[in-house]
Amino acid sequence: MATAPPSSDTLNVPNSEALPLESTASETPLDEQAAWQAERKKRTDQGLDWPIAFWLGLLHVGALAAPFTFTWQGLGLMLFLGWLTGSIGICLGFHRLFTHRSFKTSKTMRWIVGAIGGLAGEGSAIHWVANHRKHHAFSDQIGDPHSPHDGPYWSHVFWCMWARTKSDYDAFNKRWAPDLAADPVMLFLDRTFILWHVGLTAILFAVGYLTSGLYMGCSLVVWGMFLRLVYVLHSTWLVNSASHMWGYKTYETTDDSRNNWWVAILTYGEGWHNNHHAFPTMARAGHQWWEYDPTFWVIRLMEKCGLIWDVVDGHHQSKSGQQRKLL
Ligand SMILES: [Zn+2]
Ligand SMILES: [Zn+2]
Repeated sequence: MATAPPSSDTLNVPNSEALPLESTASETPLDEQAAWQAERKKRTDQGLDWPIAFWLGLLHVGALAAPFTFTWQGLGLMLFLGWLTGSIGICLGFHRLFTHRSFKTSKTMRWIVGAIGGLAGEGSAIHWVANHRKHHAFSDQIGDPHSPHDGPYWSHVFWCMWARTKSDYDAFNKRWAPDLAADPVMLFLDRTFILWHVGLTAILFAVGYLTSGLYMGCSLVVWGMFLRLVYVLHSTWLVNSASHMWGYKTYETTDDSRNNWWVAILTYGEGWHNNHHAFPTMARAGHQWWEYDPTFWVIRLMEKCGLIWDVVDGHHQSKSGQQRKLL
């Protein structure tokens, strides 16, 4: 996240030579740092969003039970639901379809994908899309909801834990995701976000308990819900944190996005984030043959089956690497 190095002008101190040569906490000039801090204070003024903090805390505490509830069925369920909610729900649905409109599909498929993505524990499609469109509009500038310029831990998790009133929440969603906020089914999914998780937890427990007893019921819940949600949450958050700090740049963009291979592996292809910032509407995140992007493989498969169409695979459409306007 290199910006201009500090100078005596921007540091605004009488004798910059008195500063230790390598002790500046950040390369960001102090006036800009102050602006970032003011922006962050504005967002944290209303205090913690306790329901969100409780939700995230509960998932992490529940995941600690994983070593004591292991079964192969639980592991298989975790891998399957992790892929279904992470790759299909978040990467294919919330990100490439809803946020960037990288392809088209039927209304029914949109609702199905909206429900699956909701089960990734990252909030509803409407709110997820609103945050992500704002991220693209202000990438690594003041106003970005989750830039490492606010600190790596802020960009990873703390950015989403601050309270806002119900009217502010609705106004934010309408401002950045008016298309989704106007869809009553998406609104229903937004209002019932937690209930879907409670329902799936109950189903998994019932299936495990009725087929193999209490231990299996607990195993399916701990591995299929708690541990799987922690995995999907952190892997998604790594795109916001690690892929804006570490990796290589293929394209010159105005942000700090990077292509990060290990984030790409963990996130079913989303780690090629510099490619994505350069070409946000493109359905394909991996631009080299070796840039692993299994979410795009599913997009191609669904296209072949006639489930989706008008896939934007526009690497050839613009060689400039310039960011395109969203929407
Ligand atoms: Zn980004
Ligand atoms: Zn994006």
